[in-house]
Amino acid sequence: MVNSVIEEQESLNLFSSTQKVIQIALKKLGYSNEMYELLKAPLRILTVRIPIRMDDGSIRIFTGYRSQHNDAVGPTKGGVRFHPEVNEEEVKALSIWMSLKCGITNLPYGGGKGGIICNPREMSFRELENLSRGYVRAISQIVGPTKDIPAPDVYTNSQIMAWMMDEYSQIREFDSPGFITGKPIVLGGSQGRETATARGVTICIGEAVKKKGIDLKGARVVIQGFGNAGSYLAKFMHDAGARVVGVSDVYGGIYDPNGLDINNLLDRRDSFGTFSQQFQHTITNEELLELDCDILVPAAISNQITAKNAHKIKAKIIVEAANGPTTIEATNILTEQGTLLIPDILASSGGVTVSYFEWVQNNQGYYWSEEEVEQKLAKVMIDSFDNIYETAHSHKVDMRLAAYMVGIKRMAEASHYRGWV
Ligand code: NAD
Repeated sequence: MVNSVIEEQESLNLFSSTQKVIQIALKKLGYSNEMYELLKAPLRILTVRIPIRMDDGSIRIFTGYRSQHNDAVGPTKGGVRFHPEVNEEEVKALSIWMSLKCGITNLPYGGGKGGIICNPREMSFRELENLSRGYVRAISQIVGPTKDIPAPDVYTNSQIMAWMMDEYSQIREFDSPGFITGKPIVLGGSQGRETATARGVTICIGEAVKKKGIDLKGARVVIQGFGNAGSYLAKFMHDAGARVVGVSDVYGGIYDPNGLDINNLLDRRDSFGTFSQQFQHTITNEELLELDCDILVPAAISNQITAKNAHKIKAKIIVEAANGPTTIEATNILTEQGTLLIPDILASSGGVTVSYFEWVQNNQGYYWSEEEVEQKLAKVMIDSFDNIYETAHSHKVDMRLAAYMVGIKRMAEASHYRGWV
């Protein structure tokens, strides 16, 4: 009992639990401990302090990070998060996950990630612009279209990407659309980028229901989080004929066993993905996860399904749109229960895949239609799903470990060819 409490506490630390799974994956693939020593942590992490004059005339110093996990395959790539709880350990773990996502989807990148400790909800437009530009000035030496390419993440959007791209272009004195992805279309953004993560999750759900013999039409879906990933996913599920019975935001959720009016909720949500305060009869996020349903999609934050609540989860399929919503212990409990869990590094890789398409389009100065982007995304997602499903079966491991094995392999091979290990 004491042991299990300690293990659960440990695995809530995203960085150390990621390292554990990487170690197991590399061992299964036959790599040496030296390879693990190379890949267990980022090659580079920069901490910056950014002074910003606030609207009331005072100066505040914001702390930010940029982590670059491994650039053996190509430049690093990954989002920038604006959130009060950003911390170095989390940014490091997220950069490793980006490496794994790029490995799974066969993109010519390693993983990167950035974050700034701030609360964008309490900041004005002007303060956010100054912070975005200040961050780019602070990290400009280690980023660039062939070095490390940022993108949006939690509480950052296409406007923030536009300011960052403009700042970088002014520093370098040439137009640099390929410096950052997730830009507005008029500044070189890609068709389909806004909805890419939710599209990727939708494709994974489509493949998972086939494996479980569930008809998506009429299937009951619960989604935690109603931001970029969760809200578009709710729409795609609704359009596919599934019944979205529960959704939530940071304040709580709403539930209707007959299916919610998704279009109404989309009209009511604000730019931070919140809507629930407009409803009287709400449920908690904890209750939402335990609802009777076929498909559960955590699309908000990490550590939501743990050893404490895993055995209460009724969904037959869990598809992780958020990064790190399920602990290792919970994954084991769910696997024993027969729940099919599609891990984050596969399910949420649609965003980085279309970011890659955006970068390719910027580099060639030739832009694709939304249809073309969606076709290419579907092929990448289905190939990646099949590869991981096959790996899970042939190695008799769960989908998470299989995804780590597929994701880490290319980076290990590239590091080996470069003579690093
Ligand atoms: P977002 O900021 O647009 O929305 C986040 C949603 O989660 C909001 O509805 C918010 O109210 C809710 N939320 C915040 N804290 C919560 C809490 N404590 N409990 C319950 N709900 C809470 O973010 P997003 O872009 O939709 O990202 C959601 C998740 O998906 C994150 O884990 C992110 O890393 C992951 N993800 C996003 C993308 C992308 O392209 N947007 C790509 C890959 C992974």
